[in-house]
Parts: sequence; structure tokens; C-alpha cells
Amino acid sequence: MKQTQPRCFLELNSRALADNLRRVREMVPNSKVMAVIKANGYGHGMQLAAEALAAADEYAVTCMEDVERLKKWGMQKPVTLLSARFDAQDLGNFATQGIRPVVYDYEHLEAFAELKADANVNVWLKVDTGMGRLGFHADELFTVYRNLRSNQGVGSISLMTHLANADQPERKKNSEQFDAFQGILSRARELELEFEDISLLNSAGVVSFPEHGRDYVRPGMMLYGVSPTADQPSHQLGLTPVMNLKSTVISVRRMPAGSTIGYGSTYTLDADSRIAYVGCGYGDGYPRHAQNGTPVMVNGLIVPLVGRVSMDIIAVDVGELAICVGDTVELWGENNPVENVAAAAGTIAYELTCGVTSRVTRVIV
Ligand SMILES: *Cc1c(COP(=O)(O)O)cnc(C)c1O
Repeated sequence: MKQTQPRCFLELNSRALADNLRRVREMVPNSKVMAVIKANGYGHGMQLAAEALAAADEYAVTCMEDVERLKKWGMQKPVTLLSARFDAQDLGNFATQGIRPVVYDYEHLEAFAELKADANVNVWLKVDTGMGRLGFHADELFTVYRNLRSNQGVGSISLMTHLANADQPERKKNSEQFDAFQGILSRARELELEFEDISLLNSAGVVSFPEHGRDYVRPGMMLYGVSPTADQPSHQLGLTPVMNLKSTVISVRRMPAGSTIGYGSTYTLDADSRIAYVGCGYGDGYPRHAQNGTPVMVNGLIVPLVGRVSMDIIAVDVGELAICVGDTVELWGENNPVENVAAAAGTIAYELTCGVTSRVTRVIV
């Protein structure tokens, strides 16, 4: 047994990031790829993600702090600012920094009022076609477009929208959003208003509607090797999970029938068994709401979680399997998909990868 191994650690497979990007390009060969690395690269580490995804056409982040980080690391690639607020001073520097802001409300336009004529800032306009989140209503769009177009400091104007149900391609709402977007593009053509780039798809969109790839796709989660749709596991999509949350067995005990396991005594053994205790809990980002039966991989075998998740410990029922103290545990990763753990915890993989806490040692492999 290795005493030096950290009790709970993240193995991050940087090669998988590059492989997953290639896979995205196979799915939408005619689209450029804006790699979404917001939220610390979905919890994988933004620097790792940015470096491993160096072949992307552009990065996308959500705040000025992320832009500062990228610059500090010497990243030269253009960056789209998906949902940040920025002031006139920020805006004046965007062109030289290769930053394309997404303009999604009237407050943003105030920053443009003081823009110098030679600023040459390229922008995205965001239209809400049914997501009900950020963006202008379709009937506001062309007024905003003309406002920006008449601004000498504005360079190209591009258009994006966001799908609310791309992970459920059969839902009617998807075609409604596509129809609404198509209507906007037709109207723009009639009015002779040109958009430089068009973008609609996140990861689920790339998988479900590759025919709508247009100029730019905006994948996030699939680059990290996680399936964006419930009915297609990531390996079926040719994606490799980047994040492997691992730990070790810290104790194994024989427990008689009738024993209850953990806080609240929510699980009772109906037969004698062996319980293995794993050094990982909600203090590491393992979901406290994971149900009995949540898959845990110990020594290469999938075994069920039993009892409540503690801060530093979970329990699994290993029966008579050959499992002992020091064995490696994969809480989620390449062999134990995070999608399955998330489903058993009533959440989505995004929340789990983003939620691994800072005490967990990161190891890049
Ligand atoms: C986060 C985000 C994406 C990426 O979404 P995934 O589901 O991770 O692919 C794309 N576009 C916008 C506007 C986003 O906010």
C-alpha cells in the first residue's frame, strides 16, 4: 500500500482534451470551434484546458478576470466574452487584445458611446430565440444592429443564439428556435444587414443538430469528454473523459445483517457483508445527495454506494469481492462515467466537474 498517494486526487488527461476537439471537428467539419473554458475549464483547470485546446479557433469565457488570466499565461488566441459586463475603458482595448464581446442588453450599448473611431471592436450580438436567458428580443435586434453599425469604432458584427433543449432533440422547442432564428436571418437579408459569423450550437447542439453548425460552434462539456445528451454515452460519441476523480480504500470491515451504515442510519444491510470505506466525501466535491446504489469503481469493479455521503468518507458494499485497504477507487472518470454518478445524485455532470474542491490534489497525466 502506497502511503504517499494523496487520499483524494484528480487525474486530468490532457491528451483527451485534444482528442475530443478533433472529434468535434469531425462532427461539424465546416465550422470553426470556440472552445468554452469558463468556470475554470469546467473544473478541470482553465490553464490546462487552454493549453491542451490550443488547436481551437477561439476561446470563450464569461468574465474579464478569465481574460486577464489567459493573457497572463501568454495565450494569444482570440477570446469571446460570453456573458460579461464591460465598461467603455475595457471596450477600448478589446480589439488589440483579440476580445469579441457578446452584446446582449441595452446597458452594453452605453459603453460603446465613448468608443474611439479607430477602435475596430468586433462584436457578437445575442438574440433570444426561446432560451429565456440573455439576449435581445428578435424585434429589438435590428435597431441595436443599426446603432452598432453606425458606430465608427465597431468592426464586424456577428450573431449568436442559444438553444434551451438541445439535449432533448425531439422536443418541439428546438425547431421553434431554429425557425425563429431562420426568420431573423431572412429579415436581415431583406434589410441588407450582414453578420460576419453565425453561431447556435453548444455541445448538445453539436451532437443533436450538426447541420446547424454554421460558422462557429461553442462546445464546452463535450471537450472534457462528457456526453451532453442523456441517451448517448460519451464513448459512443467517440469522446474520452478528461477528469478522473480517484481515491483509495481506507478501511474494510465485515458487518452483520441488520447493521446500519452512516449518518441517519438510512441504509440497513439485509445480509452479512463487507463494507469498504473510501477516502472521499462532499468535502472533496462528491455529491452528498448520491443515492444508495450510486456506482463506485473499486479495484476495477463497480460496486454500490451505501448510506449517506460524509464529508471525508463514503461507504460501498463490496461483499466477497477481492477488495482491500489501499485499493484504487474511481469515483468518476473513464471507467465510471460522471454522467451516471450525476444521475444517481439528481444532478448533471457539469455540476460535479465544476464542484471538485480545492483540497483535491490535481495530477496532469
Ligand atoms: C456554457 C456555454 C456554452 C457551452 O455549453 P456546453 O453545454 O458546455 O457545450 C455555449 N454557449 C454559451 C452561450 C454558454 O454559456
